Order: sequence, then structure tokens, then C-alpha cells
Amino acid sequence: MSDFAQSVKQQADIVKIVEGYIRLRKAGAQNYSGLCPFHKEKSPSFSVHAVRQFYHCFGCGVSGDVFSFVGKIENVGFPEAVRIVAQKCGIPLPKREYSSAEEAAEARLRGRLLELHEAAAAWFEEQLRGPEGAVAREYLAGRGMTPEGMKAFRIGYAPDSFKALRERLSTMADEATLRASGLFSSKEQGDGTPGPLYDRFRKRVMFPICNESGRVIAFTARTLETGEKAGPKYINSPETPLYQKGQVLFNLDKAKTAIRKMEFALLVEGQMDCISVYLRGIQNVIATSGTAFTEQQVALLRRHTGNVAVNFDPDAAGANAAEKSIALLTEEGFAIKIVTLEDGLDPDRFIRERGVEAYMGALRAARRQADYLIERARGMFPGASAEQKVKAMNYLLPHIRRLPEKLARDQFAHDAAQKLGIDSAVLREELRQAALKRRDHVEVRTSGLTEVERVLLRALAITDPEHEDARRAAADAVARQPQWFERLGTFAALQALARRGARDPMEAVEDEAQRALLAEALLAETEPPSASTVVGSIVSLQRREMESRLREVRDEIAEAERKGDFGAVAQLTQQKLQLDRALRQLHVPPARQ
Ligand SMILES: [Zn+2]
Repeated sequence: MSDFAQSVKQQADIVKIVEGYIRLRKAGAQNYSGLCPFHKEKSPSFSVHAVRQFYHCFGCGVSGDVFSFVGKIENVGFPEAVRIVAQKCGIPLPKREYSSAEEAAEARLRGRLLELHEAAAAWFEEQLRGPEGAVAREYLAGRGMTPEGMKAFRIGYAPDSFKALRERLSTMADEATLRASGLFSSKEQGDGTPGPLYDRFRKRVMFPICNESGRVIAFTARTLETGEKAGPKYINSPETPLYQKGQVLFNLDKAKTAIRKMEFALLVEGQMDCISVYLRGIQNVIATSGTAFTEQQVALLRRHTGNVAVNFDPDAAGANAAEKSIALLTEEGFAIKIVTLEDGLDPDRFIRERGVEAYMGALRAARRQADYLIERARGMFPGASAEQKVKAMNYLLPHIRRLPEKLARDQFAHDAAQKLGIDSAVLREELRQAALKRRDHVEVRTSGLTEVERVLLRALAITDPEHEDARRAAADAVARQPQWFERLGTFAALQALARRGARDPMEAVEDEAQRALLAEALLAETEPPSASTVVGSIVSLQRREMESRLREVRDEIAEAERKGDFGAVAQLTQQKLQLDRALRQLHVPPARQ
């Protein structure tokens, strides 16, 4: 680790950094816990150790330091993780912190693209305020948007020009970088090479799309043109090194604090819906931007909450996207409620026309997903005939099967049978089977650590000079008599720790699996073991080892006797006597030099 990384690590607080991504609760004097962002779970098995500055998941076994956490969650390499942590702590970056030329080039490009997007966003905002922006201001005012709202969401206007933005940004970056930004288009020329760049967004209201840190990475643009020239109502930035469509949730940067506080996210379809609801004080709202949810978006959301209230547009396209999103969220174990608004209004219109109180009322009246679906099935297949009931049930079965937890499937099947008035034994059995179908996955892996290993690992990780005697007792034993420890699953970690000198214990253990075991031991309790506990543990380990060797020797003696190999019998008997003697002496703890 470079000096720079080392110094960032010393200044960063892993608890604060992790809290920027997931919700943590204090779980002990030095521990925090939360839902693991790296595997699916419903009860928290992810821990962060405030003093030791590492994280560990008892469920999936991941562990490491602040850089490893950021690297994993942001999906970036070590140098980029160091940069991100440094940035979060307000530590200025030195010029060179990259491991390879490509990495440096990639980071440079991303940096340039962020600058271009920032400049473009500022320029679009300027245009909205200027004379050309009048048409856009009028449109936005017509949708109930206030100047404060426009400012908060940095809404802008791209004027009706093919080169205004191009000219504005041309001094900031070279042609290739401008091309990579996605802010421009070009037509392929006769010889197959790309033609000159021109502004992609023209005569459109510009809505910036931000990443989780609130930096602009793309735009959604709504046309103000009518008639044939209009083109699609909304266009988005293409995918760029900054922006992958399915990996961003609109407004998550602004909403995440409120989502954690309120313990649920309100999911709407359109960006205008999202902005409108947010500006009226309901701040835990995010948008899918009109498409069905992707797995990456689900993973992004899971870091903040497991509860979602879905308020999609009631039109057919909306219902379709809603159903796909709900299906995915269900499979991923989210608790889902469905918000339905009166008179088929979308969230934006509803909250503008009926007010915040009415919208809050609709949120409170949101129905559990199962109730909503059963209601829908009854609406789609009304009547009490057996045929209608079968149709309703066939509509519900896939939804029931999708629930990851058996208990929830049971409940759903039971409610469906009752509300649809299904009394036929055959149909009930069908529902019951649907409830049984999905196999529950086991979440928490049982620990592989024995009590002795826990004590030894904790002792060897001691950094406090006050408890040095306990650390030395363990280190001496592992260094001098490795044969007593070599059958332990943590042998490699024990050896590395015994040799670590003044190094940070988490860094001394290089093997990832071994480090995870160390992390697990360190999270178990707060007080390090005393020297006598350590010695007691070593003695009990030696006893166990001797006893098991004694059993082996006895078996070998029996085998040698059967074969009539009396030379071997004599030799093995000698060994057995030595082991017997050593075992008898074991209750006296060995004196330490
Ligand atoms: Zn995990």
C-alpha cells in the first residue's frame, strides 16, 4: 500500500464510509451491523468494526478494509477505491495514484466526462433563464414547476441549435472526448467514418441524471416541438463510460437519506412525477425513468431499504412495467405495497390537483402486494363460476411462486383461496403446491471457528501494549510448536499473525478466506482474552491433539499386532508411553520464558 493510501486509511472512518452506502445500527461497544450489500438477506449479518476498521459478513463471508468495501460496492479497482475514499474524506489527491497506464487513462476520461457534463448542465440552466428559454419556462410553469424546483433539480434548456453546446464545450476537451461524452451526435459519412459532431439535444427541456454522489452523468430531454419535427417525446443520453442506463436510479442521490429515515422508498415511473412529489416534501421518492427495474437497480436500492411503495401510472404501459418491476422486487425479497390513485391520475397530476395531504393519504392506504393482486384478479375475472375462479387462480399462481419465502407464499395462497371463495379441494391443493414449490435458500453460513481458534486469533490480533503478554503467549506457541496448530482451519492465519510484528492484523493475513475467519473472531466480543485464557486454550488444544494422536497410535499398534510386526509394536508402544506421560503433565501450564 502506498504512503498516500496508508494515510487515507488512517484518516478515513470505515463506519462513516459504509454508512454512505447502507444503513448501519450500533450492535455493540465497537460494532455496527446492517444488511449485507453483497448478498441477499433479510436479517443483518454484515458487521463493521469501528476500532479495527474492517467489515465482515457472517452470511457470505466477505471481509476487508475500507478500500476493499468501496472497491466491491463501486465495482472499481484499488487505486480508484483509494481515490473515492480520499474524496469522501476531503483529502486532496496526489497526481499519480494509478497502477497502470490504462487505468490512469480511464480515470482521466471519466474525470473529463464529469467536467463536460457539469459544464453542460450549468450551460443548459443558463439557457433556461435566458431569452431562448422562455418556451421551456412556460412549459415547466404549466406543469406547476417553481423556480426553486428548477434550481434544485438543475433543470435546463437545450436551445434549437446544432452547434451551440458544441461551441461552448470545444475548448474544454478534444474531439474524441467530446464524442465519448454522448452529448453530441454525428452521421456516418460515405466512407464509413463518423462525420462532424453536432448537438444531440435541441429544443428540449433538460433533466440532469445524477449518480449516487449527486454528480451529473447523463440527461433526459423532453421535446418542446410539436408535430412532425418533434421526434420522440423523451430522449436519453446514450450509454457512456459514465452512464449505464440500468444502473442508475433517478433521484437516489437526493432521496437516500429520507429513504433510510422513513424505512421505505417510494417508486414512481417518470422523472416529472418524481420531481413533483419530491418538491412537495415527500423526499424518499425515486424513479425508474419509465422502464422496468433491472437487477443492478434492485441491488442499488437494497443498500438503503427492503421496503418499497410502488406508484406507477395506471395506463396499460405503466401496468406492464409495474408488473415487471414488482416481479423482480418480489423475487429479490422486497416487501412491496401498491399505491393506487383515484381517477387514474399519475402522481404528478394527483399531487398538484389534490394536494400533498391527499397524496399522503393514498400512501397510507397503499395495499400489500398480495391484497392488490388478489383484488386485481377478482376485477379481471369477476363472478363466482368455477371457470372464472380457475382463471383468477392461474393469474395469481406465478406471483405466489415468485415469493422467496415459504411463509409469505403460504399466507398469499391462503388469502387467495379465501377471497376468491375457492372451496374445491383440487384448487386448494394446487395453491398449496404453489406455496411449497420454491426452495428457501439458507442465508447465514454457520461459523467454522472453534472456541480455541477464536481465542487464539483474538490474542494474536492484540495491538494494545497492555495485553501484550496474552499476544506473546499465543505467538510463541504458534512459532515454536506449529505441530499443535497445523490441523486447524485457521493455521495460515495464525502463522501470519504470529509473524506480523507491528503490522495491522487485518493486513498481515493476506489470504482472503483466512482474513474472513479472523474478522469473524474479532467481531465476536470486545475484550481481548487474558494471557491465562490463551494458555488454557493452547493446553486444551494440545490435549485434544495428543488424545487424537494417542488414538491413532493405538490403532497402529493393533494393526501391527495383527500383522505380527513386533518391531513396530515395540516402537509404537514407546510412542504411546511418551504421549501418556505428556498428557498427564499437561494439566500444569508450561512456564513461560
Ligand atoms: Zn454478505
